Amino acid sequence: MPNTATARCRKKARVVLSGVLVLTGTVMTGCGGEAHDAGQGPGAAPRPQAARSGRVTVVYETGTVAPEDREAVALIRNSRVLERTADWVNRSLTLPHDMVVKVTAAVPPGVTDAVTQPDGRTIFIPPPFLTEIEKALADVVKTVERPALFPASEYNTDDLTVLSTEFIFGHEMGHALQRQLLLANLGLEEDAADGYASFYTVNEVGPGPSLAAAILFDEIARKEGVPTLEGMSSDHPVTQQRAYNFLCYLEGSDPKKYQRSLVDSGYLPKTRAPLCPQAWAMLDYGWWTQLRPHFSEPFKARGDEEQKKAHARLIAETNALAERIDELRKSQ
Ligand SMILES: [Zn+2]
Repeated sequence: MPNTATARCRKKARVVLSGVLVLTGTVMTGCGGEAHDAGQGPGAAPRPQAARSGRVTVVYETGTVAPEDREAVALIRNSRVLERTADWVNRSLTLPHDMVVKVTAAVPPGVTDAVTQPDGRTIFIPPPFLTEIEKALADVVKTVERPALFPASEYNTDDLTVLSTEFIFGHEMGHALQRQLLLANLGLEEDAADGYASFYTVNEVGPGPSLAAAILFDEIARKEGVPTLEGMSSDHPVTQQRAYNFLCYLEGSDPKKYQRSLVDSGYLPKTRAPLCPQAWAMLDYGWWTQLRPHFSEPFKARGDEEQKKAHARLIAETNALAERIDELRKSQ
């Protein structure tokens, strides 16, 4: 029976990096396993005060890592991208609970990809998942011409792996924040998690993570071929669509800077690009506004200022879109 859970599991196991598509950050651990640690959800009884420092920590359980995954783990560890993402949250926000990011092979049953537990207190990053990303990007540098916008000095397997992992971890952090802070969503949680990855990396890191993630997801989409019913019905957008979303937010954050390299060059279609400045403004305002009640004391002044700026920008971009909309519709 092709539709049984077992058949689907076997299929997932064979598809390279299917998890980025299907399982990344989903609530359940996937095939055959119940999520562990699920009894501490937002509705569970509060823990003792002493256990609630609200710090994000990154732990590398190196003793669990298989020899074939050691290189990828060392690459990510030395880059400190996970720590950089965690540090921003620690500096800027006050969380109700600790959060542990575990790079470990000791994962709950069925976990093969980066996942966030339902209570937002644990993120698992399995070493084989990092190796899969590294392998996919090793193929990319051999077979895909470098987009002119991406620096030649970083168009290598290691840098692409680090940058795309930073974006993917941003996605997981987006899940963790939504769940710990019980943020109100106006769309799918997976979209919001991708949105947080764009919000955080575009504002705090630069264009590298969005571009590397778009390159990686484009490669995954190519390997997947025609979208299946399973892909279409996933709680994640279709892989290729996610790559365009990453590029759209990046372009929208600074259209003057990216018009030539992303739009004129054909990476972001001219039918989509005119919508991106307003889309970015809405995302940026949305995250600053959602996080505002949770700003840490030292961050509050800067955070409030950013939220105010994002509000003004959203109004300006919405007005600008209103002026262009008739023309845009006619041209599509
Ligand atoms: Zn997710």
